[in-house]
Amino acid sequence: MMRTHYCGQLNETLADQEVTLCGWVHRRRDHGGVIFLDIRDREGLAQVVFDPDREATFAKADRVRSEYVVKVTGKVRLRPEGARNPNMASGAIEVLGYELEVLNQAETPPFPLDDYSDVGEETRLRYRFIDLRRPEMAEKLKLRSRITSSIRRYLDDNGFLDVETPILTRATPEGARDYLVPSRTHPGSFFALPQSPQLFKQLLMVSGFDRYYQIAKCFRDEDLRADRQPEFTQIDIETSFLDEKDIMAITETMVRNLFKEVLDVELGELPHMPLAEAMRRFGSDKPDLRIPLELVDVEDQLKEVEFKVFAGPANDPKCRVTALRVPGGASMPRKQIDDYTKFVGIYGAKGLAYIKVNERAAGVEGLQSPIVKNIPLDNINVILDRVGAVDGDIVFFGADKAKIVSEALGALRVKLGHDLNLLTCEWAPLWVVDFPMFEEDDDGSLTAMHHPFTAPSCTAEELEANPAGALSRAYDMVLNGTELGGGSIRIHNKGMQQAVFRVLGISEEEQQEKFGFLLDALKYGAPPHGGLAFGLDRLVMLMTGASSIREVIAFPKTQSAACVMTQAPGLVDNKALRELHIRLREQAKAE
Ligand code: ASP
Repeated sequence: MMRTHYCGQLNETLADQEVTLCGWVHRRRDHGGVIFLDIRDREGLAQVVFDPDREATFAKADRVRSEYVVKVTGKVRLRPEGARNPNMASGAIEVLGYELEVLNQAETPPFPLDDYSDVGEETRLRYRFIDLRRPEMAEKLKLRSRITSSIRRYLDDNGFLDVETPILTRATPEGARDYLVPSRTHPGSFFALPQSPQLFKQLLMVSGFDRYYQIAKCFRDEDLRADRQPEFTQIDIETSFLDEKDIMAITETMVRNLFKEVLDVELGELPHMPLAEAMRRFGSDKPDLRIPLELVDVEDQLKEVEFKVFAGPANDPKCRVTALRVPGGASMPRKQIDDYTKFVGIYGAKGLAYIKVNERAAGVEGLQSPIVKNIPLDNINVILDRVGAVDGDIVFFGADKAKIVSEALGALRVKLGHDLNLLTCEWAPLWVVDFPMFEEDDDGSLTAMHHPFTAPSCTAEELEANPAGALSRAYDMVLNGTELGGGSIRIHNKGMQQAVFRVLGISEEEQQEKFGFLLDALKYGAPPHGGLAFGLDRLVMLMTGASSIREVIAFPKTQSAACVMTQAPGLVDNKALRELHIRLREQAKAE
């Protein structure tokens, strides 16, 4: 071993001891004939002082530059009072350098690491190996490693087996596009990279493994949406002979343990909320419960009004009219309301009606609003009572298709919560339950809300009679408005699985072609089973306070699903294409 200690481990207890450090020159300063080098390794920084008395060593210290890799031997000594640095783990001591060996030189890095300023993300990703040297980045990766260790420990202690599943496989439908890999040995055929290990983990249950987990890479070729990665990591879990209550309890304890161990945070017991309630009160399937604002439906008060903007949606069962009270919001300037109007426009809302409640006792005179003249005062008063409006509040309204209103006002609620600093706590986890089995597409066809292997909470006959009304045995864990993970009890009966396939419009032939192996497994003694998967990257992002999942992945892809460092994806030569039986369209045209 070359080093005796990490830089960040040095402290007063080592005073007068000789140590050897290995690391990078973080900063070099020349101070009246003495040279200071801050040496950095993954655990932190240490200050090393070189005196001119040791001539040869001093001369070497004089020549080193930022990011040189060095080995330093010296003696730990307390810094004089006044020269201590409370911001540095080793800030109470310094090392008097005796020997200095340059292990490697470095060119001037493309961005400075000591004074890290606004370097574009593209540059950081292009030189990720340097970016990761920054202490903040090292901290995040270290925390990520502690998180996975804690989770593994918990699952190992609770009888879960870590089993790997294939990366080269067939499509596993999770609602995204597949990444395909052409086969050389089977001309014209393709593997798909797994969108999740879903079917394999179910098959492991059929094999009797009972409790499985895997920290698994998943691949989804999704359209460019903010903060998604084409490959990401799941903590994937499956169990047999447990119902949804058991599974939620085990995994909730895992997450609570994790927060206690890694952040010393007590999350407490997680509330369970039906999806319908989450949509009604918060306009979201992943409500951020740190924000004390709620949507309150008021269509019953607006059915008869002449004002079409409200009366239309109030009388249409596919629509929703809802109110959102913001305490103390009446002082909001016009400009801010305009900005919020633009904001809800992103979600398709055509406007943002509001009432400023200046003085309720003064009747209409006390209300400032472009809409009050269109609505009878009696109805307005019922609405204001229902939302609990008092003097000084503002009440916003949404009236449109239910989906638009929920999304727009749900997002506005979160934005207001942040803009006005209304957050009531740091962590607000919950379970969302009672999801519908299916979602209706614009063309009226149904798609699985979770995935097609999720068990309904009704019989197969009831399901086929009224698929749109069927609920599933699925559950999501939500934290601070982010979906941390989700899962379900699965179908373990072939007839039920085929009923779901039929509802989804998957023909008998296609069922056999795509899922024949699953249907086979279901007929050879499949136990009742279920599980879930957590998104590791998002979990780490929340726990480290990072602003994006790219910040907690060592080598992430850019927003356009490329790696700017390795230049992937890249072109391949014709020979390789020929071996894969592939001819590119451009080539074909030229020939
Ligand atoms: N496979 C599911 C997903 O990736 C999770 C699960 O149902 O366990 O969302």
